[in-house]
Amino acid sequence: MTSLTVLGSSGGSPTRTNPASGYLLRSGDTTIWLDAGTGTFMALAAHTDPGTLSAVVLSHMHVDHCADLFGLYGYLAFGPSGIVPIPVYVPKGAAEHLAAFAGAGAEHVFRVVLDIVEVGAGDSVPVGDLRLRFGDARHSVPGLVTRIETADGVIAYSGDTGPGSDLDEIGHEADLLLCEASIAGERDAQSYSHHLTAAEAGAIAEAAGAARLVVTHFATGVVPETAVAEAQAVFGGPVDAAKPGETFTIGEEE
Ligand SMILES: [Zn+2]
Ligand SMILES: [Zn+2]
Repeated sequence: MTSLTVLGSSGGSPTRTNPASGYLLRSGDTTIWLDAGTGTFMALAAHTDPGTLSAVVLSHMHVDHCADLFGLYGYLAFGPSGIVPIPVYVPKGAAEHLAAFAGAGAEHVFRVVLDIVEVGAGDSVPVGDLRLRFGDARHSVPGLVTRIETADGVIAYSGDTGPGSDLDEIGHEADLLLCEASIAGERDAQSYSHHLTAAEAGAIAEAAGAARLVVTHFATGVVPETAVAEAQAVFGGPVDAAKPGETFTIGEEE
């Protein structure tokens, strides 16, 4: 069985009850922290020892997806530590960005505990028994859409994206598509081009042939139940809203 636990699903900023974007994927002995949004490090630590992570994926360099990487950095460098280095897959240009925040020169401990690896569309890497494949998001900064292939099936994740990303292909016949739905209602001239409406998330799930859709990254004012209904109107499969602490599974129970 492979599970995806929601650490936070708040878009843009954390709220008092919901961290920003972060998910814990567990499959056999392999654990992946998928986006390290504000507030998600402590939520992660409630579920697993962060020092035993197999890998981290940061979809892009907005703080609501990457800021808590520095919580992991402190944990590994100055705290309980773990099995280092932990690989961190990031979009192009992000490695120096992260190192600059840590003030990390060539010999710095940041580079000892974290192995930051830039990836892009078409790249594929093994993590334990899993395989990650990446595509391009359409966002205001370079971003990744991510396909995670496991023995139990496929989970795909949008990160932040507007229409026109590689998600149709990266999410092809996914057992679970985790897709942002930042914008309420119909797209209009004022809508951000670098985020999706819930209906657009539903249309991507339908085009990709996904079995199931979980909508996430709820901006202030977006009601998750409304987003589910809007996605459900265009997607034939089941739709759920990502809520902190909730776990979705694919594959057989062990
Ligand atoms: Zn975001
Ligand atoms: Zn973003």
